[in-house]
Amino acid sequence: MNQFLSRRSFILIPIMSILKFILKPKKVLASSPSSDEDWNLSKEEWKNKLSPESYYILREEGTERSFSSELNNEKRKGIFYCAGCNQALFNSDTKFDSGTGWPSFWDPIKGSVETKVDFKLIVPRTEYHCSRCEGHQGHVFNDGPLPTGKRYCNNGLALKFIPQ
Ligand SMILES: [Zn+2]
Repeated sequence: MNQFLSRRSFILIPIMSILKFILKPKKVLASSPSSDEDWNLSKEEWKNKLSPESYYILREEGTERSFSSELNNEKRKGIFYCAGCNQALFNSDTKFDSGTGWPSFWDPIKGSVETKVDFKLIVPRTEYHCSRCEGHQGHVFNDGPLPTGKRYCNNGLALKFIPQ
């Protein structure tokens, strides 16, 4: 009897852990912070909240002119926040000079951004946005510095910098 029980749990435990693994992504999606109700604003509400320039970037996936943002040259220690909802997105420790004219980072703060593929320039690019308010930030490329090799090319208008 005991032997039967232990054999049964021997089979059941791996099945349960596989099920957990399969079910987990759905659960995470359901409680995804991007569907945060507080930030599920209408177009009009966003227009009232943001400058026209920031609205164009954050809500219409626009791109600012390169070298137009003061944050491109920002070298102080501090945190870069989403200009839409003030979620912390990047630490100054991960900022680097990419020479592109856009503030560039090699790693976002964990869980602060989500990505999707866009085809605006025909060639697929990976767009990323704030995980809380879904505000568009920029695009991520695979030609960044170590340790990640990623280059998060961010619009300055989509960020707020607070020095530490
Ligand atoms: Zn945000």
